[in-house]
Amino acid sequence: MTEQVDCAVIGAGVVGLAIARELAMAGREVVVLEAADAIGTHTSSRNSEVIHAGLYYPKGSLKARFCVSGKALLYDYCAGHGVPHSNIGKIVVAVTDNEITTLKNYVQKAEDNGVADLRWLSREELRKLEPEVECVAGFLSPSTGIVDSHALMLAYQGDAENHGAALVLKSPVQSGAIGSGAIVLNVGGDEPMTIACRSVVNSAGLFAQNIARSIDSMPAMFIPPQYFAKAHYYTLSGRPPFKRLVYPVASNAHLGVHVTVDMAGQIRFGPDVSWVDTVDYSFDHSREPLFYEAIRKYYPGLRDGQLQPGYTGIRPKVSGPKEPAADFVISGPRDHGVAGLVNLFGIESPGLTASLAIAGRVRELLQG
Ligand SMILES: Cc1cc2nc3c(=O)[nH]c(=O)nc-3n(C[C@H](O)[C@H](O)[C@H](O)COP(=O)(O)OP(=O)(O)OC[C@H]3O[C@@H](n4cnc5c(N)ncnc54)[C@H](O)[C@@H]3O)c2cc1C
Repeated sequence: MTEQVDCAVIGAGVVGLAIARELAMAGREVVVLEAADAIGTHTSSRNSEVIHAGLYYPKGSLKARFCVSGKALLYDYCAGHGVPHSNIGKIVVAVTDNEITTLKNYVQKAEDNGVADLRWLSREELRKLEPEVECVAGFLSPSTGIVDSHALMLAYQGDAENHGAALVLKSPVQSGAIGSGAIVLNVGGDEPMTIACRSVVNSAGLFAQNIARSIDSMPAMFIPPQYFAKAHYYTLSGRPPFKRLVYPVASNAHLGVHVTVDMAGQIRFGPDVSWVDTVDYSFDHSREPLFYEAIRKYYPGLRDGQLQPGYTGIRPKVSGPKEPAADFVISGPRDHGVAGLVNLFGIESPGLTASLAIAGRVRELLQG
C-alpha cells in the first residue's frame, strides 16, 4: 500500500532537522526519513561545532549570506531553547609576514559580507589574549562561537515533533518516481514502504546526489558532481592552553588545522583534508606528524605525545581538489523543473551555522 504524505524530508542531520522544524512550524505535515538508527550520525556529528562569523565566503554567495544570517538566528535560537553554546570568539593569526596579506583579505571579505566586528590586535594584545600562541599578526572575531551540535539537533527535532512532524529511523530512501501530482519514494529498511509525497526535500548530505540520481525525471544536468574530502581531528591531553578558538591562515580552500573547543572544554585540532572515494570514517594514524608540524607553527609549546586521535568527518563537496570551493547548491522546482522537489548539495561548512537560514530558504522554494 502507498502511504500519502504532504512533505518528506530525507535525512535527519542538522540541516534536515532544521528544515523539518521550519516546515512543520509553517503548518505542513512532515515525515523525516532517516536511513540510520539515530539522528545526526554523519557530518552533523563529525565537525568542528563552530558558529562561524562569515569571514571566508565570497560576497553574495549562499554560504556568506546564510552564514551571517544563520549565525544571528542560531545564537537567538540556542539562547531561547537552552542549547549549550558559547560566544567565545576566535583569533585568526599569521605566523609569517607573507600570510598578513591573506589576513587582510579575510577582513575585506568579512566587511563585504556585513561582518563589521573584526578587530586587528597588536602583538602585545595577542600575547595577552593567548600567551601560548606564536604569531606575527592577527585579529579577533568576537562573534565566532561554539555549539553543542547534538543538543541543537535534539532541539530542532523536538520543535518539529511538537508541530506534528514524525521522524522515522532505519528508513533508507532507495529511489523515487514522479506520479500524478506526487513524488513517490521507495523506502527500504526493516519495513519497506512506498510513500507518495506532495513535496520532497533531499537533505541526505554526502548521499544527496545518489538520491537525486535515483529519482526518475530528475534532470542529470541539475545534479552536481560529488566529491568527498575527509578530515581528521586530534584532541589535546593536558591543561587547555587556549581560552578561545585559534585559526591559522587557511590553505587549499579549507580552514587549516585550527583549534576548537567543545562545550565540555576539550581542545581539538583539525580538520586536515584528504580526498577520498567512499564514506569511510576510519582514522589514518599516519597523519599525526603532519598535525604536530602544522600546530607547532602557531603553538610551539605542543609536546610530543599530547595529541590523541579524535574522530574523522567527510565534507560533502561539489567541487574537486583542483577547483575553487563551490557554493551550497539548493535547487527547487523552478531550477530543475521537478514539481515539489528541493535538493541540497554540497552542504559543507558553514552548514551547521547556516542551518536555520537554509531551512527558511527551503520553505520559500517549496512555496513556489
Ligand atoms: C570536517 C567538517 C567540519 C565542519 N565544521 C563546521 C563548523 O565548525 N561549523 C559549521 O557551521 N559547519 C561545519 N561543518 C559543516 C556541517 O557539519 C554540515 O554542513 C552539516 O552537518 C550538514 O548537515 P546535513 O544535515 O546536511 O548532513 P548530514 O549530517 O550528513 O545528514 C544527512 C543525513 O541523511 C541521511 N541519509 C543519507 N542517505 C539517506 C537515504 N538514502 N535515506 C534516508 N536518509 C539518508 C544520513 O544518514 C544522515 O543522517 C563541517 C563539516 C565537516 C565535514
